[in-house]
Amino acid sequence: MRSDPASPPAALRLKLDTQALAANWRALDAFAPDAATGAAVKANAYGLGVHKVMPALREAGARDFFVAHWGEVNEVLAHTPGGSISVLHGPLTADDCAFARATGVRPVINSTFQAQLWTDAGGGPCDVMIDSGINRLGLSLPQIGDPAVRALQIDTLLSHLASADEDSAQNAEQLAIFKQACAALPARRRSLANSAGIGLGEAYHFDLTRPGLSLYGGVPRPELTNAICQVAYPQAAIIQLRDLSPGDRVGYNATFTATRAMRAAVVSIGYADGYLRCWSGRGALQSKGRALPLLGRVSMDMVVVDLVAAPELREGDWLDIPYALPQAAMASGLSQYELITILGRRLHQS
Ligand SMILES: *Cc1c(COP(=O)(O)O)cnc(C)c1O
Repeated sequence: MRSDPASPPAALRLKLDTQALAANWRALDAFAPDAATGAAVKANAYGLGVHKVMPALREAGARDFFVAHWGEVNEVLAHTPGGSISVLHGPLTADDCAFARATGVRPVINSTFQAQLWTDAGGGPCDVMIDSGINRLGLSLPQIGDPAVRALQIDTLLSHLASADEDSAQNAEQLAIFKQACAALPARRRSLANSAGIGLGEAYHFDLTRPGLSLYGGVPRPELTNAICQVAYPQAAIIQLRDLSPGDRVGYNATFTATRAMRAAVVSIGYADGYLRCWSGRGALQSKGRALPLLGRVSMDMVVVDLVAAPELREGDWLDIPYALPQAAMASGLSQYELITILGRRLHQS
């Protein structure tokens, strides 16, 4: 039998600060001292890796976890056997219901269709999502009276805020609608706040909060600014040095032309890794805090940076990719959610 050699380390990597992750969870927990603090770990923990994120969150004290898809359950469940896991998209088929009943995870019931499907499958504890104005998933207030909904055994009654990252009148409107739902539909617990909702204050906290973004370093509201630390630190290595002469053009479509002799470096990160083209012309990588501006376009798997500020660097040296989410969002025009969830799989090989 042939045994393949192990792959050498990649020229790009993601340093995950699990202590910062745990500290963020505790900081969010401290913001809402009378509520339990859960954790949204959907989309592979916002791209950072369930296998690394779950142990840190569990150890910090998180006990309630939220995923979007049924396919995300098993990996999370392995880290919290018998634990509280809610599947936000709810069941679409009898197979989904059978899987929920077999694993003991709770479907989030978002419609009268899902309520009936769950009951037909034998039912059991579930969560219910109220649509208080986002018009995404959830039951409307009038639908609460539907017999299929009345028949449910509800663990946690949920609703989701649409504009909690803004000082919008919609926040208070959604709060009022959720309170009506709480009065009309008995449940063991109530939960409204995502990360931004935690920052809105005690009135929004109820029994359980569901932060996602801020666990991973996102700051959706100014109240959270000093409490939340960066968690994900992408880095990439220089794979080639290059001396440019005046007139030399760099990268796809030649959007940069050197006006003087300069040292440049080709670096192993690109849009195939989640470092998107929007960084072209406005991004910079860093070495020991020195900014190394991008030259020309992000091109598939690579960028070219200006090494004038760091002439001693060589092939194989690592550069930091500035990725503090609030600042990176301002610089790139991407949302903090997009920035964290798009980091590519190749960054996780280290
Ligand atoms: C993703 C999600 C969350 C977490 O939201 P953040 O803004 O990332 O904190 C909470 N609740 C629901 C229903 C979600 O879909």
